[in-house]
Amino acid sequence: MSIHTEIFTSPQDIADAAGQRLAEQVTARVAPVLGLATGSTPLLTYQSLVDRHRAGLSFSSVTTFNLDEYVGLPHDHPQSYHTYMRDALFDQIDIAADRIRIPDGNAHNPDRACQQFEDAIEQAGGVDLWLLGIGSNGHIAFNEPGCQPDTRTRVVDLAPETIEANSRFFGSPDDVPRTAITAGIATILAARKILLIACGQNKATAVKDALQGPVSPDCPASFLQSHSDCTFLLDENAASQLA
Ligand code: PGA
Repeated sequence: MSIHTEIFTSPQDIADAAGQRLAEQVTARVAPVLGLATGSTPLLTYQSLVDRHRAGLSFSSVTTFNLDEYVGLPHDHPQSYHTYMRDALFDQIDIAADRIRIPDGNAHNPDRACQQFEDAIEQAGGVDLWLLGIGSNGHIAFNEPGCQPDTRTRVVDLAPETIEANSRFFGSPDDVPRTAITAGIATILAARKILLIACGQNKATAVKDALQGPVSPDCPASFLQSHSDCTFLLDENAASQLA
């Protein structure tokens, strides 16, 4: 199996294409289940979904699962992924609050929260399409280099390079939480379709390793090579090291 790859001239073109594919799931299914990501890259895609909602697309029957959340940040912290999702998407569309599921980084019993997250995906019938970004170290969600393909939702330590990369959103690296709850590699691979979006030169090595390197924990995104319906949407910079 190989990952289907499409190269676009601009991040906006990627967002339009990703928005189109997510919207197709919403219109094609009675009870669509979308997997969502955070970070800088999906912001334009979420704006595309908001625009489609304003043009008439309803999300009232959609259920969503987010990949990850920091441990220990209050839900209303400016850098929590709960806040990110509300601002970028949920507050601007007609999704029902009880159909939104983001890992609970404040759970008293994190292991139980992780199992409940997995159970909720199963009860929803599985994820139809999971939107992903990729870290410059090859991570997907917070599955950092060294992780295994059979991992499920769990508490993980962030890699030093992830703390450094995400410090741009916080005051300093010291303010970035050290742990997070993340959907596992096996959780992600169980989605019926996977759509990974990547822009910029700083993703080029990770994209090359994911698509053309060996399947290895050194590049967690390389595990996507085993999926039967995975597409990467890349800009020319992110694709610049592909053979
Ligand atoms: P970014 O993050 O979209 O902010 O580059 C991607 C990721 O770390 O998965």
